[in-house]
Amino acid sequence: MNILILGGGGREHALAWAFRQNPKCDRLIVAPGNPGVASVAECARIDIMSGDEVLEFAQENAIDLVVIGPEAPLAAGVADVLRAGGVAVFGPSQAAAQLEASKAFTKEICDACGAPTAGWARFRDAQAAQDHVRRVGAPIVVKADGLAAGKGVVVAETVQQAVEAIDMIFAGGFGEAGAEVVIEEFMPGEEASFFVLSDGVNCLPIGTAQDHKRRDEGDRGPNTGGMGAYSPAPILTEALQAQVMAQIIRPTVAEMARRGTPFQGVLYAGLMIENGQARLVEYNARFGDPECQVLMMRLGAQALDLIQACVEGRLDEVRVNWADDHAMTVVLAAQGYPGDYRKGSAIKGMDDLPDTGSQTVFHAGTALKEGQLIASGGRVLSATGRGDSLAEARDRAYALADAIDWPEGFYRRDIGWRAL
Ligand code: ATP
Repeated sequence: MNILILGGGGREHALAWAFRQNPKCDRLIVAPGNPGVASVAECARIDIMSGDEVLEFAQENAIDLVVIGPEAPLAAGVADVLRAGGVAVFGPSQAAAQLEASKAFTKEICDACGAPTAGWARFRDAQAAQDHVRRVGAPIVVKADGLAAGKGVVVAETVQQAVEAIDMIFAGGFGEAGAEVVIEEFMPGEEASFFVLSDGVNCLPIGTAQDHKRRDEGDRGPNTGGMGAYSPAPILTEALQAQVMAQIIRPTVAEMARRGTPFQGVLYAGLMIENGQARLVEYNARFGDPECQVLMMRLGAQALDLIQACVEGRLDEVRVNWADDHAMTVVLAAQGYPGDYRKGSAIKGMDDLPDTGSQTVFHAGTALKEGQLIASGGRVLSATGRGDSLAEARDRAYALADAIDWPEGFYRRDIGWRAL
């Protein structure tokens, strides 16, 4: 089987790393990939936002399956172009990817299928939105409707903050994504992520995780793309997962199918848990990064079989072969991230690190310059460990992180504190 993965971050490295362990996997190409990916796959330079270019590449290279990593090509309809061209693809259509690309759309789906979520209202006018906020009071959550890389959400503790957030969004900083504002009831509780494959009809849970969005230890400081994650999330007990499947995931998948836009791919539900009850915060239409790293570390070679079954519409025929294991990933980022940071610093000490089924370093923002590995992005490496306990997974992940010689980088020392 020849496989093309679109993307070049730690998530795509983890997917390639897991696929490579499966004897079914013949040629494996990642576009654009990165120097870490190059150890398990070929890297190709194509414009992954252009459906036509990806389709042409897939046809020329006899690709049997395209796996789309990031949200942007999904929202741009790359999966639709591939399907229309007869290429098998893992990832939702543009219409189904609205579950991530539009917050108001997801709220409408929740209302239509009865999935528990925060109360909400939508506005295209700042004055009306601000009147609403003044009426309801704080805390309250203000969101730009569209994709804004996590920057379009303000959890406002005061009415004044909410009013300013509304002005900021309508001021145009978010382009089309900010043409509409969604105002939500504030949900207290603990957050966790739940990952489910859907072939449009059938649903298969493939794991839970919790991540750390804040830059600094103790979950303080600015928001980032994610500084670390672990799986499973102890708060998502079997009973709670059953509740989420029955009340949130299955109704959503059924509603999408009823509308003629079935969701095929990975549905990543962000949940808020309070008093043993889960409510939906958001959907993503792809794997999370760094959550994918811990999921792939746990699933290993079977990840490809599950994804193939999903694409072929036979998720009802497969099951996950669960191990009683835990995984953790620690993100190494460039000093200054998520603000301004310097690119080009040398990363050393990588050659002698273990690379096993229980310990590996996934690359994100790295590049090669004259044979030397350098940092080329904000989030640069994910040191990942697996073990019989979360503590063992943590020790293995940190042993890798500590062995990397990169003075211009930093990482949090407390990933997993809540579960440990
Ligand atoms: P990202 O993709 O970066 O996770 P996003 O821009 O898609 O973010 P959301 O996930 O909807 O936005 O919100 C970001 C964060 O804001 C959530 O992870 C959660 O911590 C908080 N949040 C969002 N909605 C609510 C809510 N109704 N009540 C409490 N907290 C919320």
